[in-house]
Amino acid sequence: MVLAKDLMTMQNPTWCPGCGDFVILMSVRQAIEKLGWKQEDTVVVSGIGCGSKLPRFVKVYGFEGLHGRALPAATAIKLANKALNVIVVTGDGDGLGIGGNHFIHTMRRNLNITHIIEDNRVYGLTKGQYSPTSPDGFKSSTSLSGALETPLSPITTAIAGGATFVARTSMINPSKLTDILIKAMTHKGYAVIDVLQLCPSYNKTFDMNWYKERLVDLPENYDSTNKVSAFEKSIEVTEKVNEGIFYIEERPTYEDKVTQMQKEPLVKQNIENIKMDKFYNKFK
Ligand code: SF4
Ligand code: MG
Repeated sequence: MVLAKDLMTMQNPTWCPGCGDFVILMSVRQAIEKLGWKQEDTVVVSGIGCGSKLPRFVKVYGFEGLHGRALPAATAIKLANKALNVIVVTGDGDGLGIGGNHFIHTMRRNLNITHIIEDNRVYGLTKGQYSPTSPDGFKSSTSLSGALETPLSPITTAIAGGATFVARTSMINPSKLTDILIKAMTHKGYAVIDVLQLCPSYNKTFDMNWYKERLVDLPENYDSTNKVSAFEKSIEVTEKVNEGIFYIEERPTYEDKVTQMQKEPLVKQNIENIKMDKFYNKFK
């Protein structure tokens, strides 16, 4: 069994001191250890951003794609080899801005993949522009008088869009983050976890104290299988920020529904006897 420490690579992260990405990286490694996932069966996929460098630091397969395109790459990987455990990491800007369209359609498909949104409410790598999750009035390098746009809630969007596991947590409490990651990674279907994260370099507003004062667990009697109450909870206006699993649904995955994928993974299937002549001849 692989231990979290064995999942370190030769490279050291170059993130700023105090960056939340360090905690997310540690939790990903710990979740892989606790689940007993094999390195050769696991792949971490990302796009572009500070946190999207994460595949370099986990000793499993990795793929860094184009900005906003982590989900299509992960989709292709899962379609080719459904036996792989696929973890996707995106930032809030990368995953919800540039990749927003892919987010919606991945929810509809319900592939069995885990999507971690490293949500620091700002574009960190490109020096602090406001992002889709920056609140109205947020001052940044591109919104000196405050952002004018209404923020997008990853939780509300994911519940409405059809994700079958929707959770919010933070990197303030690493053991809670690891627990939720494990639940998401064992969920069969598209699991979205909005991980609230510190960016001490470009987001001085949402710092450790801000989160410590506001984060609260969802109520004990909360029913995460009720879509209507999950949606209501996600749009509730309150001083507090709810943490926990907002919504879980059992629904067949995309892989379950594609006839050719119901047997072994496509990469293992024998393609020698597949004749394409009829198809090619059509276009001669
Ligand atoms: Fe982390 Fe922000 Fe620095 Fe990027 S800019 S490495 S998100 S602290
Ligand atoms: Mg960001």
